[in-house]
Amino acid sequence: MKKIKYLLGVIAFLTIYSCSTDSVQINDENVLIEDQTELVFKEIKDLGFSEKDIVDMGSYFLVGNDITFSKTGRPQLANDDMTPKQRRTTYLVSDKTIGVRIDPSLPSNWKTATRNAMAHWNANSGSSIFLYETDYYWPYQGGFLFNPEIEVMNDNAAPLPNNTIAAAEFPTSNGMPGYRIRINLSFSGCSVSNNLRFYNMIHEFGHCLTFAHTNSSFGSHISGTPTSDSNSVMNGGTACTLSSGLSTGDRTAVNTLYPLQINAPTNVQAYHDGDEELTMTWNAVPGATSYKIYNNIKETGKTGWYHYRTSSSTSYSRELKLSYRNGYRMMVTAVDANGNESKMVEANYNW
Ligand SMILES: [Zn+2]
Repeated sequence: MKKIKYLLGVIAFLTIYSCSTDSVQINDENVLIEDQTELVFKEIKDLGFSEKDIVDMGSYFLVGNDITFSKTGRPQLANDDMTPKQRRTTYLVSDKTIGVRIDPSLPSNWKTATRNAMAHWNANSGSSIFLYETDYYWPYQGGFLFNPEIEVMNDNAAPLPNNTIAAAEFPTSNGMPGYRIRINLSFSGCSVSNNLRFYNMIHEFGHCLTFAHTNSSFGSHISGTPTSDSNSVMNGGTACTLSSGLSTGDRTAVNTLYPLQINAPTNVQAYHDGDEELTMTWNAVPGATSYKIYNNIKETGKTGWYHYRTSSSTSYSRELKLSYRNGYRMMVTAVDANGNESKMVEANYNW
């Protein structure tokens, strides 16, 4: 990663240095961008892929049908500096409470499949993985807070081959999940039912969370999982044949890499005094040192959950005028001394 940053720095320097003549500027940039492409290509080979399996698709490399590596890498986000077996890739996701943006332009059947796939991952009770929907960018110190960490989008910007239904990226060395899932709306491999959309989205989220193809030699075997698993949702080449979600072996894999570390709050109740006072309470969670409150807001062009406040007690109050109460939603998580966050629980609204 350091090397990429260095190269980007060189590109920026040359752009400034050579801006007096367009031809020099363009040539120098091309040379360096080629170098960067080479760097990504080498990184893929270092992961264990053979050269013949790496297909150059222009702005990205395609490997093993639905695994992609952007040549330019994850877009720089404001919070980037924060910190036939089930198989995993090199990096794990450090923050298991993960914001997902679903592009508003996607067809509703794919949006529904995405939301159902997120719920399927969240319902796996042995793991701390929790995917929540957000589209919230809060301007902060020249950047943004609460960026979505995974974006689900169509493939217009970087088209996929017609026989690839969708593709995802792997986590990066900074502990961020694979930053995008692209859906191919012109996929022609088979007719796609809503169930297939659902299972394929479970599969693609698996890639964003580090899981490779169970039936491939790429990646390293996750201890405790079977030596082959025909039911694994992470088998490759299954875009048209998937018929179930996470298998028993998949769950073992997920729970091994991302074990549940702290329980979620229970008995989460929200009250409103009918005037302008909102209060939320919940039961204390063993091991919790704080609790995160998430709000769901709707404003022009923005929707979804965002981290609103952190509380050290088991209650939270705020002013909320009666006229804003309708449709107002809240969730809470527990956080332990090591910063591990529980799954999110929505309040029961007493109004
Ligand atoms: Zn795949």
